Amino acid sequence: MEVISHPALAHLHPARPHVHPERPERLARLLERFPGFREGSPATREQIERVHEPSYLAALDALHEEVWLDGDTFAGPTTWEAARLAAGCALLAAREQGFALVRPPGHHALPAAAMGFCVVNNVAVAARYAQAELGLERIAIVDLDVHHGNGTEAIFRDDPSVLFVSLHQWPFYPGTGGPGTSDEHTLNIPLPAGSGDAEYAAAFTEEVEPAVRGFEPDLVLVSAGFDAHEADPLAGMALTRDGFRELARRLAVLGPRLAAVLEGGYNLETLPDLVEAALEGFAAEGR
Ligand SMILES: [Zn+2]
Repeated sequence: MEVISHPALAHLHPARPHVHPERPERLARLLERFPGFREGSPATREQIERVHEPSYLAALDALHEEVWLDGDTFAGPTTWEAARLAAGCALLAAREQGFALVRPPGHHALPAAAMGFCVVNNVAVAARYAQAELGLERIAIVDLDVHHGNGTEAIFRDDPSVLFVSLHQWPFYPGTGGPGTSDEHTLNIPLPAGSGDAEYAAAFTEEVEPAVRGFEPDLVLVSAGFDAHEADPLAGMALTRDGFRELARRLAVLGPRLAAVLEGGYNLETLPDLVEAALEGFAAEGR
């Protein structure tokens, strides 16, 4: 699977304060590990407006100073450029069946609001692009990030053409996605802190695989967060490198097309290894 990114994402949208976990070094480390990446280009305003309110995007475009968009989401003069590049890499990934290594992440972002380090919902923009410009009808989004993908859920909650599946630590930030919140095209799988390879594998067997196969998607988009790893500083799950590889392998056979978009993952030492593990899992099934 081709890796898609852009070198500017390793310096745009700098972290404030500097110790913020969602920082440019995440991408710098990844681009060091995967130097042969294909370069994406910015998404257009129109492509992003399929998901987000025009007034919200205009406000991002007009930022001339650093601000906090919510309690833990900073933004500044280079945020809009970074967000357009991240979304553009995600839609190129959808087209080329690649893995977009991007930041800021996207799955908490709502139509008119940033949230939880996320500014533009990259995977949602990619899903809408696949429908509008690639002629694909049914999209399954599987979100492995340790946090519930509340933004993606909200965007597609009333849209039966998109199946949203999220496995996440619960109870945990952002507090949504708990028991009893699934419907015909939303599958929330809350897992207790400490869940690891065996628990995720069981959830795949019992819930994820039957749901995605039954949906018969034209494209499977993976919201590829790696903060459920045992060494991630932000959460309390216990997935290993082998666990991520196995989940990727199992995802690779769930639809005729597959693409992935980076979400969280905040241990700079392990993040490149985990992306590599996912690529190994996809490759094991010929992706
Ligand atoms: Zn996360």
